[in-house]
Parts: sequence; structure tokens; C-alpha cells
Amino acid sequence: MNAIQPADTLARQLALVIDLNVCVGCHACVTSCKEWNTSGAAGPLTDLNTRGAQPTGTFFNRVQTYEAGAFPVTETIHFPKSCLHCEEPPCVPVCPTGASYKRAEDGIVLVDYDKCIGCKYCAWACPYGAREFDEERKVMTKCTLCVDRVYDEHLPPQDRKPACVKACPTGARLFGDVKDPDSEVSQAIRERGGYQLMPEWGTQPANQYLPRVRTAAVAGGRGAGSAATERPATVDALKPTLAALCAGTQEA
Ligand code: SF4
Ligand code: SF4
Repeated sequence: MNAIQPADTLARQLALVIDLNVCVGCHACVTSCKEWNTSGAAGPLTDLNTRGAQPTGTFFNRVQTYEAGAFPVTETIHFPKSCLHCEEPPCVPVCPTGASYKRAEDGIVLVDYDKCIGCKYCAWACPYGAREFDEERKVMTKCTLCVDRVYDEHLPPQDRKPACVKACPTGARLFGDVKDPDSEVSQAIRERGGYQLMPEWGTQPANQYLPRVRTAAVAGGRGAGSAATERPATVDALKPTLAALCAGTQEA
């Protein structure tokens, strides 16, 4: 069993910040993640029974799409979700073998596949449904923040980013150190009202989301005032749905 270093003593915490204004739900991040982590050191991400009645696929990163508002005043929201690299990750202390751990040097939460016995305790503990079981190797997998890319000195500096960040055609995915107040991610969180997913669960997710700009149509009916940048009604309206879907996507 691994102890977790208290979040406030971590000098560095790498994370993703996702801009919900510009994500168009194209799934480029999903396929890029799948390709990199199937062929790279963290893979393979297995697909089973692909042409059968109940196909399954293992993905570190998924994009869920919701309709918010009430007809006819609705909008479509694309919501990418992967492991949030929580600063207080409940998936770590439940692991009986110490396979699940949080790195002290950069806060990335990882699984040591050589120690994992496939008991799935961590998947039950993760309230976001972010863990994916590899049915072929019988080990638990999850987003690694492309730890095998971001420190690879053989890659040019501009490529030392997660594959999903490199692939996003709209620049919706930012990557960096959320403990560094001058980083791009910290500035975006500070200036654009970045928020954590379900902070009431006490997990302190490192990944954050930039809320959609509130549109006049959804905020108060069509034509009722101008757009504002306050926390959007749509995010609050989505919370029960997100909570239910997080719980519903947990590993069985
Ligand atoms: Fe663990 Fe889930 Fe948090 Fe990722 S999102 S660190 S798997 S609790
Ligand atoms: Fe640890 Fe693997 Fe069990 Fe998860 S499935 S708790 S990583 S041994």
C-alpha cells in the first residue's frame, strides 16, 4: 500500500486544463491517445470482440457529449475526461500491492503493471470512472499524462507533450504545471475561472476545466442580454448528469 505525499508539499503537479468553449467533440484526442498508448510503452489498449454483440475497447481518454438546457433553447457540450491526477487520489491507498502510486516529483498518478494483480479495488475507489482494465494482460491501466513523451529528450521540446494535446485541432487542451503560478495552465485557471470536477468529493483533481462562456440564449432565453464569463448555468445543470455518468462508468 502506498502513502500519498500531502498535496500542499508537492513542488510540481503536471495536469491538463481543458477549454470547454472550443472543444468540438472531434475525438482527435481520443484516437491520438489510443494510437500512442497502443504502440508506446504504456500500451496496448485492448479491444475485444470488436465485431460481436458486446464489443469493448480500452481508452485512457473519452469525450462525452451532452445536451444542456431545455428544448428549444439547448446547446451541445463536449466533455473530454481522463484520469484527473488527483492530489488526494482515493485509488492509491486502496491498492493492496502498491501498484498504484502518485509520483512525488510531478504528481502524475501511475500504475506499476508488474505489481498489479488486477483486483480492481482502484477502479471501485476512483469516483470518476477513469480506470480501464486491460482484459488481455489482466492489469489496470489509466492515463499516464504521456509520461513517456514529456520527459523524452529524443523528442524536440515542442513535442514533449501528451499525445492528446498535440492532436487537438482547436487548442482546447493545455498542459503544464498547475503549481507554477506563471505557467500557461495556471494563468488560464486564474484568468478564466478554471474549475475542478466534483470538488465536493475531496479528491482535489489536478486537471481542471475552463467553463463555457454563458450564452444569452441558455442563460436567460434567446436575446436576453449579452454573453458573460461567469460560471455558466450549463455547468451546474450538468453536475447531476456528470456525477451519475462518472459513477456509471466505473469498472465492474
Ligand atoms: Fe485516481 Fe480516478 Fe483521481 Fe485518476 S481520477 S487519480 S484514477 S481517483
Ligand atoms: Fe492495485 Fe492493480 Fe488492484 Fe488496482 S487492480 S488496486 S492497481 S493491484
